[in-house]
Amino acid sequence: MAVGTELLLGQIADTNSRWLGEHLAAAGVSSYFHQAVGDNRERIVTALRTALARGEAVIMCGGLGPTQDDITREAIAEVMHVPLVRDEAVVRRIEALFASRGRDMPANNARQADVPQGAQTIEQQRGTAPGLICPLGHKVVYAVPGVPHEMEEMFTRAILPDLRRRMAEQGEEAAIVSRVLRTWGTSESALAEVLQGRIDALDEQSPAGTGVTLAFLASGIEGIKVRLTARARSAGEAAALLDAEEREVRAVLASTLGDVVFGLDEVTMEQALAAVLLERGLTLGVAESLTGGLIASRLVAVVGASTWFRGGVVAYDSAVKHAVLGVPEGPVVREEAAVAMAQGARRVLGADVGLGITGVAGPDPQEGVAPGTVYVGLSAPGAGDLSRVLRVPGDRQRIREYSAISALDLLRRTLLRSAEETGAAATG
Ligand code: ATP
Ligand code: MG
Repeated sequence: MAVGTELLLGQIADTNSRWLGEHLAAAGVSSYFHQAVGDNRERIVTALRTALARGEAVIMCGGLGPTQDDITREAIAEVMHVPLVRDEAVVRRIEALFASRGRDMPANNARQADVPQGAQTIEQQRGTAPGLICPLGHKVVYAVPGVPHEMEEMFTRAILPDLRRRMAEQGEEAAIVSRVLRTWGTSESALAEVLQGRIDALDEQSPAGTGVTLAFLASGIEGIKVRLTARARSAGEAAALLDAEEREVRAVLASTLGDVVFGLDEVTMEQALAAVLLERGLTLGVAESLTGGLIASRLVAVVGASTWFRGGVVAYDSAVKHAVLGVPEGPVVREEAAVAMAQGARRVLGADVGLGITGVAGPDPQEGVAPGTVYVGLSAPGAGDLSRVLRVPGDRQRIREYSAISALDLLRRTLLRSAEETGAAATG
């Protein structure tokens, strides 16, 4: 339960609940409800009673400050039917905190040492307010400050261990762990169709409360995420379930949609490409027209890019394509020009691999070519010279961004394939 009128007014977003949801799930604790309530005692009391009726543990954040509108302590005491008792040891800790900053403790701050009778405090390490652990029969209410880093620190240090202990006592300990397969170049419906068999199999295998589930999340032009979530008795068991299911999913995808998985979790397309370049010991140079440096910008976002990225040429005007990159005279929005740009980048930048991109970002056609028509050229050892044409829908910005990631993916796949072929030729 998030406490604070500013949440209801939309002045701040309830990022604490988001953070708690994520970390509870990772720890195998099922979250049933989130709620937000203003700084009003009657409504906090009602909200707390409701929360206690809907679950066995409640985490409240906010309203533990020293001012008159910080009334979480009072509301908890009311629900527990106990008085607030000032904890002198806590008063002394708050005084010491102010003294360490060379200040006297304002009288108001003594309120932060008020504890509902029968509750335990969580020692404050970052702010002035201690947290609270308040037993109510076999249920429990935790209260932590609203300041995110104070809340996070107390959750990790005190609340999670207390929850785990309670769950172990009830034989409910579990771990929930997720892994995301990042895909690019396919649609959510195609993924759902080819993975339907896995989804059905998982449904059948899983007894209630354990096993793996599979979900799809769109992530803009950055592709579709396939999220595997495992629930098991321990983190180790959950990881083993994820390993097994990841193998299954990768096998299904490779045999139906091809090489669509480019990485795991937070990996970006440029990081995935960087890994392939590094592994093969290749350097890269790019020549960009319509993307105007977007590709180079993505590449240099990768830590350590200087080991494999030589640089880029933004050859926007046709004259620059001809003069700097050696693109033959004639139209520059066609496959031959993209390949010549790739070769030019390779030569001018002294790179092993060249990537060239030219096309029409729109909104008007160019050289009689429709907006969204994009040519990507590659020049690489082993793979030779090749080109692809893309038809990208959308406005100028989307066309440029989509073209950039498409080009990175095309290069990634081409290098992987040529490595396989070289490997096959060597072993065969
Ligand atoms: P303090 O002792 O600092 O007064 P508090 O327990 O009284 O802490 P609040 O006054 O409710 O907590 O919130 C302090 C600050 O923490 C808010 O100004 C806000 O920036 C942030 N905060 C509070 N609740 C949330 C929340 N649910 N999500 C994100 N940030 C929050
Ligand atoms: Mg406050």
